[in-house]
Amino acid sequence: MVTTSDEAGHPGQTSLYPCGRRLLEFPLPLRLIVLGATGSIGVQTLDLVKRHPDKLQVVAVSCRSRVPELVRQLDDLAAACPDHELPLVAVTDPAAHATAAGHPRIEKRLLGLGANVLTEIVNEAIDPHCLVNGLVGAVGLEPTLAAAKRGLRIALANKESLVVGGPLVAAAVAAGGAEILPVDSEHAAIAQCLSGRREKEIERLILTASGGPFRETPAADLTGVTLEQVLNHPTWNMGPKITVDSATLMNKGLEIIEAHYLFGVSYDRIDVVVHPGSIVHSLVEFADGALLAQLGTPDMRIPLQYAISGEKHWPLETGRLDLLETGSLRFEAPDPVRFPCLRLAREAGAAGGAAPIVLNAANEVAVEALLAGRIGYVDISPIIEHSLATEVPVEVKDLATALAVDKQARRTAAGQVDRRSAGGE
Ligand code: MG
Repeated sequence: MVTTSDEAGHPGQTSLYPCGRRLLEFPLPLRLIVLGATGSIGVQTLDLVKRHPDKLQVVAVSCRSRVPELVRQLDDLAAACPDHELPLVAVTDPAAHATAAGHPRIEKRLLGLGANVLTEIVNEAIDPHCLVNGLVGAVGLEPTLAAAKRGLRIALANKESLVVGGPLVAAAVAAGGAEILPVDSEHAAIAQCLSGRREKEIERLILTASGGPFRETPAADLTGVTLEQVLNHPTWNMGPKITVDSATLMNKGLEIIEAHYLFGVSYDRIDVVVHPGSIVHSLVEFADGALLAQLGTPDMRIPLQYAISGEKHWPLETGRLDLLETGSLRFEAPDPVRFPCLRLAREAGAAGGAAPIVLNAANEVAVEALLAGRIGYVDISPIIEHSLATEVPVEVKDLATALAVDKQARRTAAGQVDRRSAGGE
């Protein structure tokens, strides 16, 4: 954590990203803890390990309930990397945990079913170098804090860690001598633009958004969209929660807050532009007007590998961007009327305190209800807005307060889901 004294006249901000500072150095192979191993980020991390068995090794994995998938992944990993040790395993769903005990690949290395098993596995992993946090939601915060206290490199895909606990994570990273490298493609793009730069040279961050599946859908038609349409993302292939967030643009809203904490830039200097096609992953404008962008095919393994490796461009066989085929690049302003979540997130971030926690909790509850078929797409933003409006402001000084705010906000949002699913509004 560094507080900048800004020569360009911007107020001093706190930055989590090690801009211009030496990264932690670890011997190869890097020993990885992969949380959310059966999710999109986890699967792609294990793919990278199989491509670079001399550089990467998995020493601990977690999943919620998809034990058969996890077993298959670990079988594949053992076949591709026969000299790697069996990883420590955490399974968080009680019923799934009971089934995991019967698998020879897992049972000897399976942690018990504790309430804090995701923190426990970060603490128990032997000589880890890097946590790949691919968890979905606020549940990712405590493992991030544990990794920060152990002084690890944190390849952070779980943006909710920063949305819910930005100041807490900053304090833990500083105290533990850890580092956070963003996996989110936009933030990884900004990190690449900042290579060799200093915070005080930054004038403005510009996050690009694909616009999601409803970029051109008239407001009146949004009421009738189906879950299948919500989940049909035009460019990125991701898990269901983040795909819904991309359709509402809440994902971009959460990314504004993430960028604020990572790069120490005030909210009025973080812009969003819609960029269909997802070729330009984000941009940085510097104090002299120079604008740097990072471009590439939309493949999450590129930013993932860049973060895990400690910002190295290791060889990676991905589709290459053909500029002639791409032709022109288009940029549009996001529509604040059709996508109110973007405004709600920006306001909550700027308000600080409990507001970002409430925003995130209400969004998680609403998205879960949408995925369960209980509410419609247009119900999401009113549920979040109601939760923010009824929130009691508190100062969030510690994890216990953050968790209490989160719990209360989930109750409030769940009440709104019940009303709307019963046709009460
Ligand atoms: Mg992103």
